[in-house]
Amino acid sequence: MPVEVKIDDLIRMGILSDFDRQEQPKKLARQLKKEGIIEHFNFKNEVFTLSRMANDDCLYLDTVSRRCTIYALRPDTCRNHPKIGPRPGYCPYQPR
Ligand code: SF4
Repeated sequence: MPVEVKIDDLIRMGILSDFDRQEQPKKLARQLKKEGIIEHFNFKNEVFTLSRMANDDCLYLDTVSRRCTIYALRPDTCRNHPKIGPRPGYCPYQPR
């Protein structure tokens, strides 16, 4: 499932810095796309879609443990995922 994030999420995740808020979102999106971090940017809503691995897994999902590698810094979308309740360390998008 593609994960949509805002600039605040990208800053928390350590991908962007507070300083980057001064940049044009379009320019940031171009840079992040080039680095393979995002696969899409919605200009109207300023929402970035994180890139996925070839098997559709999130870039931040550990392939062996199936746990989120950035759990403490995960995007709001993941924090607010309604389907599976909080299970510390695990990605809410994965089956139990
Ligand atoms: S919880 Fe972690 S692994 Fe799961 S979608 Fe969010 S960032 Fe990716």
